[in-house]
Amino acid sequence: MSPSIKLNIAKVQQRIAEAEKKYGRKTDSVQLMAVSKTRPASMVRAAADAGLTEIGENYLQEALDKQRELADLGLTWHFIGPIQSNKTRAIAEHFDWVHSVDRLKIAQRLNDQRPETMAPLNICLQVNISGEESKSGLPLEELDSLADQLAAMPNISARGLMAIPQATDSINDQRQAFTQLADALHRLQQKHPTMTTLSMGMSNDMDAAIAEGASIVRIGTDIFGPRQ
Ligand SMILES: *Cc1c(COP(=O)(O)O)cnc(C)c1O
Repeated sequence: MSPSIKLNIAKVQQRIAEAEKKYGRKTDSVQLMAVSKTRPASMVRAAADAGLTEIGENYLQEALDKQRELADLGLTWHFIGPIQSNKTRAIAEHFDWVHSVDRLKIAQRLNDQRPETMAPLNICLQVNISGEESKSGLPLEELDSLADQLAAMPNISARGLMAIPQATDSINDQRQAFTQLADALHRLQQKHPTMTTLSMGMSNDMDAAIAEGASIVRIGTDIFGPRQ
Protein backbone atom coordinates (compact mmCIF):
# COMPACT_ATOMS: atom_id res chain seq x y z
CA MET A 1 0.00 0.00 0.00
CA SER A 2 2.64 2.53 1.00
CA PRO A 3 4.82 2.22 -2.14
CA SER A 4 1.84 3.39 -4.19
CA ILE A 5 1.20 6.34 -1.86
CA LYS A 6 4.83 7.34 -2.23
CA LEU A 7 4.61 7.08 -6.01
CA ASN A 8 1.31 8.98 -6.09
CA ILE A 9 2.83 11.80 -4.04
CA ALA A 10 5.81 11.99 -6.39
CA LYS A 11 3.41 12.25 -9.34
CA VAL A 12 1.35 14.99 -7.70
CA GLN A 13 4.53 16.90 -6.81
CA GLN A 14 5.64 16.58 -10.41
CA ARG A 15 2.29 17.94 -11.61
CA ILE A 16 2.59 20.86 -9.18
CA ALA A 17 6.10 21.64 -10.43
CA GLU A 18 4.94 21.52 -14.05
CA ALA A 19 1.95 23.76 -13.34
CA GLU A 20 4.16 26.25 -11.48
CA LYS A 21 6.38 26.44 -14.54
CA LYS A 22 3.57 26.53 -17.08
CA TYR A 23 1.65 29.29 -15.32
CA GLY A 24 4.59 31.45 -14.30
CA ARG A 25 4.42 30.63 -10.62
CA LYS A 26 7.57 30.59 -8.49
CA THR A 27 9.16 27.19 -7.88
CA ASP A 28 7.88 25.67 -4.63
CA SER A 29 5.29 28.40 -4.16
CA VAL A 30 2.46 25.84 -3.95
CA GLN A 31 2.20 23.72 -0.81
CA LEU A 32 0.69 20.24 -0.91
CA MET A 33 -1.82 19.21 1.75
CA ALA A 34 -2.73 15.51 1.97
CA VAL A 35 -6.47 15.19 2.62
CA SER A 36 -6.93 11.99 4.57
CA LYS A 37 -10.62 11.83 5.48
CA THR A 38 -11.82 8.21 5.73
CA ARG A 39 -8.22 6.92 5.38
CA PRO A 40 -6.51 5.00 8.16
CA ALA A 41 -3.65 6.47 10.17
CA SER A 42 -1.26 4.03 8.47
CA MET A 43 -1.85 5.81 5.14
CA VAL A 44 -1.19 9.20 6.71
CA ARG A 45 2.02 7.80 8.15
CA ALA A 46 3.02 6.65 4.66
CA ALA A 47 2.39 10.17 3.34
CA ALA A 48 4.50 11.60 6.16
CA ASP A 49 7.26 9.10 5.36
CA ALA A 50 7.20 10.47 1.81
CA GLY A 51 7.86 13.93 3.22
CA LEU A 52 4.42 15.53 3.56
CA THR A 53 3.75 17.58 6.70
CA GLU A 54 0.36 19.21 6.01
CA ILE A 55 -2.64 16.97 6.72
CA GLY A 56 -6.28 17.90 6.07
CA GLU A 57 -9.19 16.27 7.89
CA ASN A 58 -12.97 16.76 7.62
CA TYR A 59 -14.37 14.80 10.54
CA LEU A 60 -13.39 15.69 14.07
CA GLN A 61 -13.49 12.36 15.90
CA GLU A 62 -11.69 10.55 13.10
CA ALA A 63 -9.03 13.27 13.07
CA LEU A 64 -8.49 13.15 16.83
CA ASP A 65 -7.96 9.39 16.68
CA LYS A 66 -5.33 9.77 13.95
CA GLN A 67 -3.63 12.65 15.73
CA ARG A 68 -3.24 10.48 18.81
CA GLU A 69 -1.81 7.62 16.78
CA LEU A 70 0.57 9.87 14.83
CA ALA A 71 1.64 12.21 17.63
CA ASP A 72 5.29 11.23 17.12
CA LEU A 73 5.36 12.78 13.63
CA GLY A 74 4.92 16.49 14.43
CA LEU A 75 2.44 16.99 11.58
CA THR A 76 0.53 20.20 10.89
CA TRP A 77 -3.22 19.52 11.06
CA HIS A 78 -5.76 21.42 8.99
CA PHE A 79 -9.49 21.19 9.67
CA ILE A 80 -11.27 21.55 6.32
CA GLY A 81 -14.81 20.22 6.90
CA PRO A 82 -18.11 21.83 7.88
CA ILE A 83 -18.07 22.99 11.53
CA GLN A 84 -20.88 22.50 14.02
CA SER A 85 -20.68 24.82 16.99
CA ASN A 86 -20.46 21.97 19.52
CA LYS A 87 -17.19 20.91 17.84
CA THR A 88 -15.35 24.21 18.03
CA ARG A 89 -13.64 23.59 21.38
CA ALA A 90 -11.92 20.39 20.26
CA ILE A 91 -11.02 21.97 16.92
CA ALA A 92 -9.52 25.01 18.68
CA GLU A 93 -7.51 22.72 20.95
CA HIS A 94 -6.23 20.21 18.41
CA PHE A 95 -5.67 21.90 15.06
CA ASP A 96 -3.12 24.34 13.63
CA TRP A 97 -5.32 25.64 10.82
CA VAL A 98 -9.05 25.82 10.09
CA HIS A 99 -9.98 26.42 6.42
CA SER A 100 -13.75 26.24 6.70
CA VAL A 101 -14.84 29.22 8.80
CA ASP A 102 -17.88 30.80 7.18
CA ARG A 103 -19.72 32.60 9.96
CA LEU A 104 -19.05 34.92 12.85
CA LYS A 105 -20.37 32.62 15.56
CA ILE A 106 -17.87 29.91 14.67
CA ALA A 107 -14.96 32.35 14.48
CA GLN A 108 -15.92 33.83 17.83
CA ARG A 109 -16.09 30.41 19.50
CA LEU A 110 -12.75 29.32 18.02
CA ASN A 111 -11.18 32.54 19.30
CA ASP A 112 -12.70 32.14 22.78
CA GLN A 113 -11.77 28.46 23.02
CA ARG A 114 -8.23 28.58 21.64
CA PRO A 115 -5.97 27.79 24.61
CA GLU A 116 -3.88 30.80 25.64
CA THR A 117 -0.80 28.58 25.73
CA MET A 118 -1.03 27.89 21.99
CA ALA A 119 -0.16 30.14 19.07
CA PRO A 120 -3.16 31.90 17.50
CA LEU A 121 -5.27 29.56 15.37
CA ASN A 122 -4.68 30.09 11.65
CA ILE A 123 -7.97 30.70 9.87
CA CYS A 124 -9.09 30.78 6.26
CA LEU A 125 -12.55 32.06 5.47
CA GLN A 126 -14.48 29.71 3.21
CA VAL A 127 -16.21 31.56 0.40
CA ASN A 128 -19.08 30.30 -1.72
CA ILE A 129 -18.01 31.38 -5.19
CA SER A 130 -20.34 29.23 -7.28
CA GLY A 131 -23.62 30.63 -6.04
CA GLU A 132 -26.50 28.64 -4.61
CA GLU A 133 -25.24 25.12 -5.37
CA SER A 134 -23.12 24.64 -2.28
CA LYS A 135 -24.33 25.04 1.27
CA SER A 136 -20.92 25.88 2.69
CA GLY A 137 -19.09 29.15 2.46
CA LEU A 138 -20.10 32.74 2.95
CA PRO A 139 -21.20 34.94 0.05
CA LEU A 140 -18.51 37.22 -1.37
CA GLU A 141 -20.49 40.27 -0.27
CA GLU A 142 -20.15 39.30 3.40
CA LEU A 143 -16.42 38.74 3.30
CA ASP A 144 -15.25 42.24 4.22
CA SER A 145 -17.29 42.53 7.37
CA LEU A 146 -16.33 39.06 8.64
CA ALA A 147 -12.64 39.73 7.90
CA ASP A 148 -12.91 43.00 9.87
CA GLN A 149 -14.42 41.13 12.81
CA LEU A 150 -11.70 38.45 12.73
CA ALA A 151 -9.04 41.13 12.87
CA ALA A 152 -10.22 42.04 16.36
CA MET A 153 -9.88 38.47 17.70
CA PRO A 154 -6.56 37.96 19.50
CA ASN A 155 -6.44 34.16 19.42
CA ILE A 156 -7.11 33.90 15.72
CA SER A 157 -4.78 34.75 12.86
CA ALA A 158 -6.65 35.48 9.62
CA ARG A 159 -4.51 33.89 6.92
CA GLY A 160 -6.60 33.82 3.76
CA LEU A 161 -9.46 32.31 1.80
CA MET A 162 -10.66 28.83 0.87
CA ALA A 163 -13.21 27.64 -1.67
CA ILE A 164 -14.64 24.45 -3.10
CA PRO A 165 -16.14 25.48 -6.44
CA GLN A 166 -18.80 23.43 -8.14
CA ALA A 167 -17.18 20.42 -9.84
CA THR A 168 -16.69 20.75 -13.58
CA ASP A 169 -14.33 19.16 -16.09
CA SER A 170 -13.82 22.41 -17.99
CA ILE A 171 -10.52 23.98 -17.03
CA ASN A 172 -11.83 27.35 -18.19
CA ASP A 173 -14.80 27.16 -15.84
CA GLN A 174 -12.51 25.99 -13.05
CA ARG A 175 -10.20 28.94 -13.62
CA GLN A 176 -13.10 31.37 -13.73
CA ALA A 177 -14.21 30.25 -10.28
CA PHE A 178 -10.71 30.36 -8.78
CA THR A 179 -9.94 33.77 -10.23
CA GLN A 180 -12.89 35.15 -8.27
CA LEU A 181 -11.36 33.86 -5.05
CA ALA A 182 -7.95 35.27 -5.96
CA ASP A 183 -9.50 38.67 -6.75
CA ALA A 184 -11.34 38.65 -3.44
CA LEU A 185 -8.11 37.92 -1.57
CA HIS A 186 -6.25 40.71 -3.35
CA ARG A 187 -8.99 43.18 -2.38
CA LEU A 188 -8.93 42.02 1.25
CA GLN A 189 -5.14 42.22 1.45
CA GLN A 190 -5.18 45.99 1.14
CA LYS A 191 -6.75 46.16 4.58
CA HIS A 192 -5.59 42.80 5.98
CA PRO A 193 -2.04 42.18 4.75
CA THR A 194 -1.62 38.94 6.74
CA MET A 195 -4.21 37.29 4.50
CA THR A 196 -1.94 35.68 1.91
CA THR A 197 -3.19 32.07 1.72
CA LEU A 198 -5.30 30.84 -1.17
CA SER A 199 -6.50 27.36 -0.22
CA MET A 200 -7.90 26.04 -3.48
CA GLY A 201 -7.53 23.07 -5.81
CA MET A 202 -8.44 19.40 -5.30
CA SER A 203 -7.52 16.34 -7.36
CA ASN A 204 -9.76 17.33 -10.29
CA ASP A 205 -9.04 21.04 -10.46
CA MET A 206 -5.52 21.41 -9.08
CA ASP A 207 -3.92 22.74 -12.25
CA ALA A 208 -6.54 25.47 -12.68
CA ALA A 209 -6.10 26.47 -9.04
CA ILE A 210 -2.33 26.76 -9.46
CA ALA A 211 -2.84 28.82 -12.60
CA GLU A 212 -4.95 31.26 -10.58
CA GLY A 213 -2.58 31.58 -7.65
CA ALA A 214 -3.28 28.75 -5.18
CA SER A 215 -0.78 28.73 -2.33
CA ILE A 216 -1.94 25.40 -0.91
CA VAL A 217 -3.76 22.61 -2.77
CA ARG A 218 -5.85 20.01 -0.91
CA ILE A 219 -5.37 16.58 -2.48
CA GLY A 220 -7.01 13.33 -1.37
CA THR A 221 -7.85 10.96 -4.22
CA ASP A 222 -4.69 11.49 -6.25
CA ILE A 223 -2.58 10.62 -3.20
CA PHE A 224 -4.57 7.88 -1.48
CA GLY A 225 -6.72 6.50 -4.32
CA PRO A 226 -10.51 6.62 -4.63
CA ARG A 227 -12.53 6.78 -1.39
CA GLN A 228 -14.61 3.66 -0.78
C1 LIG B 1 -12.19 15.65 0.29
C2 LIG B 1 -11.74 17.06 0.18
C3 LIG B 1 -10.61 17.39 -0.58
C4 LIG B 1 -9.84 16.39 -1.43
O1 LIG B 1 -10.60 16.02 -2.53
P1 LIG B 1 -10.02 14.98 -3.63
O2 LIG B 1 -10.95 15.16 -4.76
O3 LIG B 1 -10.12 13.62 -3.01
O4 LIG B 1 -8.64 15.39 -3.94
C5 LIG B 1 -10.21 18.72 -0.59
N1 LIG B 1 -10.86 19.67 0.12
C6 LIG B 1 -11.94 19.39 0.87
C7 LIG B 1 -12.60 20.47 1.62
C8 LIG B 1 -12.40 18.07 0.92
O5 LIG B 1 -13.50 17.81 1.65
